Amino acid sequence: MQIHNLTKENSILNIFIAEIRDVNIQKDSMRFRRNIERIGEILGYEMSKSLTYTSKTIETPLAKTNVEVYNNEVVLCSILRAGVPLHNGLLNYFDTAENAFISAYRHHLQNPESFEIIVEYLACPDLEGKTLILADPMIATGQSLLATFEALKPFGTPKEIHLAAVIGAQEGIDFANKHFPDNTHLWIAAVDEKLNNKGYIVPGLGDAGDLAFGQKLQQ
Ligand code: URA
Repeated sequence: MQIHNLTKENSILNIFIAEIRDVNIQKDSMRFRRNIERIGEILGYEMSKSLTYTSKTIETPLAKTNVEVYNNEVVLCSILRAGVPLHNGLLNYFDTAENAFISAYRHHLQNPESFEIIVEYLACPDLEGKTLILADPMIATGQSLLATFEALKPFGTPKEIHLAAVIGAQEGIDFANKHFPDNTHLWIAAVDEKLNNKGYIVPGLGDAGDLAFGQKLQQ
């Protein structure tokens, strides 16, 4: 897996990351969603540099000219519900992408520190030979990302896989690196130190789904 940590280089991305982490600013859920969406746009732009391009002839009002356009068939897959704003940001740039959605949640076992990942809802197009972008804003353990990938396998083998994430814990990134195929890229906006005993990323930002869409009753 090739890892592209975008905060290795300073850019405007840092401002969006600072705002989603900030305990006061993140309370504004519309700003939180929009910042995640803007991060999705930046991840999409960076990712687009690794696609394959062919020349297309365009007619302007003055002359014909050639433009290099990507020829990958992109499928964008997100994990509900926290993945929705990231999905929107990526879709703003990959505007002809097909889309897949999957639900994955943590089912806490008797010991509150352990959980299993349950995959339920799944809507997916054919993936054979396509460029699969898997969007998961928070890579904590990496287990939901892998559970999602496993659930998608019956729909075809993608030509390549791009994981798009906002914040990841080093442990989750190492897990993904171990379990995803070699033709996988990870595009990530920030890498954090560790997980706490409830599986949250530290320093992280809290619960991305709750911050984007409000608190839920389910654990
Ligand atoms: N999901 C979140 O929303 N936050 C974390 O810290 C880990 C997983």
